[in-house]
Amino acid sequence: MSSSVYFMNMRADFKENSFAKFQRMIKKLNIENIIKKGEMTAIKLHFGEQGTFSYIHPVWVREVVQAIKRRDASPFLTDTTSLYAGGRSYAINHIETALSHGFAYPCVNAPIIISDGLKGQDSVRVAIDKNHFKDVSIASGIYHADSMVVLTHFKGHVLSGFGGALKNIGMGCADKAGKYKMHLGATPMIKPELCKKCLLCVSSCPGKAISFAGETPQIDSEHCLGCGQCFSFCKAGVFKINWDSTPPDTVIERMVEFAYGALLNKSGRVCFINFLLNITPGCDCLPFSDAYIVPDIGILASLDPVAIDQASVDLVNQQQYTFPDGVCSHKDKFSSIYPQVSWQRQLEYAQEIGLGSRDYKLFKIEQD
Ligand code: SF4
Ligand code: SF4
Repeated sequence: MSSSVYFMNMRADFKENSFAKFQRMIKKLNIENIIKKGEMTAIKLHFGEQGTFSYIHPVWVREVVQAIKRRDASPFLTDTTSLYAGGRSYAINHIETALSHGFAYPCVNAPIIISDGLKGQDSVRVAIDKNHFKDVSIASGIYHADSMVVLTHFKGHVLSGFGGALKNIGMGCADKAGKYKMHLGATPMIKPELCKKCLLCVSSCPGKAISFAGETPQIDSEHCLGCGQCFSFCKAGVFKINWDSTPPDTVIERMVEFAYGALLNKSGRVCFINFLLNITPGCDCLPFSDAYIVPDIGILASLDPVAIDQASVDLVNQQQYTFPDGVCSHKDKFSSIYPQVSWQRQLEYAQEIGLGSRDYKLFKIEQD
């Protein structure tokens, strides 16, 4: 059965601006069935790593907060601590990074709570009994929330091809240990002969896992977090995903299983909004925002995380790419950027384990 996905483009005029159109789209989700009076609603989003600017603009988040408050519920903005040492690695610096990106109460009208606690250890074990995990550790703030609105900046991702709603909830609702389990075994392989000896990797590796043995870069797998950031920061192409030690689809399937666990106690109490704006080739965990690969497309809303991600990737692939140095070389944008990664796998596996449907019907929110 196909799922409904609502889509608004970014056209606006004097009669109706984009915020009014956005509120009309939110109404289509019938959030009165999801968000109840007096309850606590998690707004799951990514505040952006320090150095980025392509994350969801706080003014859109405020629109969602207002819609939830009209239901007399209590919204809070939330994410979890990152696995690597960066600007979001524990609750204090994560909140400081969020505030520096404009997610302050006077702007968004809701508090920030980092759902896996001060150091990323506060979680609840959720039994799922799937192929990779029998149980998963879900950040306690998210687990205990009565309902959830998942706001996702849609973009490319080195480990999953694209980062959409499934990645936002799969990786983003796990505690630190859960994130480590998903990445486990993803230590890159290296081609030292390509090294230009700029030493950027030594200072930038979040796990402090890269060192030099004489002239040769090497990775200490004990300290490697499997985060994949070295694929981005080494422009010489020294680091490659080691598909032999980690089968291509394993990290993706683990992530989808965590998404399953994060949604398990919230049946019918979650909705998803994907922002197809500022679509970068890499994720918001990187400490920079690269050039956008396609023009801004619009915003999507759905009750189905699989359908909304499928619709998002389809809309991206329908665009004429504009990435300046030709990284997107053919119609399938994310396969073009990450040829070794099957972005389709997250959708296939999510559908297989019952998270939603790849079959969708797109309803356009026409200009009023
Ligand atoms: S970033 Fe790449 S080129 Fe620079 S030292 Fe590290 S491996 Fe060599
Ligand atoms: S994947 Fe690369 S950047 Fe990440 S911890 Fe391992 S060596 Fe460092």
